[in-house]
Amino acid sequence: MPNKIPLDSRICIIGAGPAGLSHGHYLRKAGYNNIEILEINCKVGGKSHSLTFNNRSFDMGANYLTPDYTHVMEMAREVGAEMYHEKSPVAFNPETGKFKPLLKAVMEGTTFFGFAKSAIRYFFIRWKLNGILPFAGNMGLADRADLMVSFDQWLDNHKLGNLKKLFSIPTTMMGYGKLSEIPAPYVLRYIGVGTFRTMLMFGAGISIAYPKRFVDGFQRFWQRISWNLNVRTSVEITRVLRKDGKITVWYNEHRLKDDGRNVDPDKKEYDYLVISCPLTFKTLDPFLDWRDNEKEMFSDEKVIHRTFGITLLNDIKKVKHKWRVFHIFPLAEINQPSIFAHQFPSNPAYEIYTPMTNLKEPTDPEEMKKIVADLEEKAFRIIKSLKGDSNKEEVLHYDLWKYFYHVSLDDFKAGYFDKLERMQGQENTFYNMGLNSFELIEPITRYSKHLVSKYYVGKSSK
Ligand SMILES: Cc1cc2nc3c(=O)[nH]c(=O)nc-3n(C[C@H](O)[C@H](O)[C@H](O)COP(=O)(O)OP(=O)(O)OC[C@H]3O[C@@H](n4cnc5c(N)ncnc54)[C@H](O)[C@@H]3O)c2cc1C
Repeated sequence: MPNKIPLDSRICIIGAGPAGLSHGHYLRKAGYNNIEILEINCKVGGKSHSLTFNNRSFDMGANYLTPDYTHVMEMAREVGAEMYHEKSPVAFNPETGKFKPLLKAVMEGTTFFGFAKSAIRYFFIRWKLNGILPFAGNMGLADRADLMVSFDQWLDNHKLGNLKKLFSIPTTMMGYGKLSEIPAPYVLRYIGVGTFRTMLMFGAGISIAYPKRFVDGFQRFWQRISWNLNVRTSVEITRVLRKDGKITVWYNEHRLKDDGRNVDPDKKEYDYLVISCPLTFKTLDPFLDWRDNEKEMFSDEKVIHRTFGITLLNDIKKVKHKWRVFHIFPLAEINQPSIFAHQFPSNPAYEIYTPMTNLKEPTDPEEMKKIVADLEEKAFRIIKSLKGDSNKEEVLHYDLWKYFYHVSLDDFKAGYFDKLERMQGQENTFYNMGLNSFELIEPITRYSKHLVSKYYVGKSSK
């Protein structure tokens, strides 16, 4: 009996970020070999971006894996990507200039026993939710009134209010917005039992095997995955036409010929299309032959995002403290640097993380310079409070990421994800990126696996 989608189908995946590459990876494992991944950038990995400074790899985008990352770790074993585990961070209060264990800082205002009781309750409730949250994606949750609230409300409803400061670290500080803004299922998917255990141990300064990082960086892990896939980088798609069950893609490949001219524009025909670049009007409008339901689902009103800034600063070696990673606590305001990471003791580079509001994409380079200078200035103020020499620093690199594509609680409740799931496979098109599940690599990878096992393999009903 043939598969739902024949093994020799020609499949085009747009975007070589974690969603596109994991989709390609699971297709290859299922026996599909006729896949091509077209990436606009000159590198793969999307928001996984590793760079080397002073012979050490720094992650400017995705960095951590927790025990819940079973699929990513399986892929890492397959391609031989080595990992190491991160040292625990501490909390730093720039007003008082004092450091303290992170867990102690988030427990302020509550008793140890009250906090411990709530933590145990969260473990139990979250474990029970394993049977309710789907393996991947957010389908079937709109009917669950108990989950269709903000995470802040969900904590109150479960009498877990004294864990709010703790949860604000992986959510607000990591750029996903305030607890009162984020729909509960997103955080519940994010903070599974293994991740919650890691948060507590990590916060308490207990050295355990998690969170892990890739020795060569997250992006280089994706590079290894891409070595077994037909990925073409620096490809600008100019038009996609879906007609009579065939998909024609026109593109420019920005490779130079020997005489210095670009390779001529080209076109190619496929049987299936997977859109794994941002599912937004701005990204898709330049090439997609829109269908009405796509226009509605991927409009600016529906798909919202935030911005996350990462800066790599050089030479703040005069800062005197022994901690390698510290979080600003009480929580910094949005648009203020929130995490400082001196990843390697022998390397002068410091990484600074800044969760930001939804920044309009600056088109003017001068405007961009101003934003980075402002981030730099704010980081220097904190460095000064540590008696660091703020004149010596220099920005080695920065990234301002469009981050956390998601929908509002109202759209979640109105069944956005069930609608999106019903669109999968229509017009021989699949939609696969962070938006479908949550802006983290394990949920994205699981969603890719779900798509391949549900829509491609298995008996065809035809
Ligand atoms: C600072 C930061 C820290 C993070 N930390 C973690 C972490 O610790 N753990 C974790 O699991 N996750 C982390 N993440 C999140 C993780 O990086 C993202 O969830 C993930 O990269 C999203 O994958 P994606 O494929 O949906 O999108 P992306 O990574 O954005 O990839 C989309 C790809 O599509 C390409 N593309 C765009 N337009 C086109 C076009 N027109 N044609 C062709 N290609 C196109 C892009 O160039 C890109 O390669 C972090 C992210 C950031 C920014």
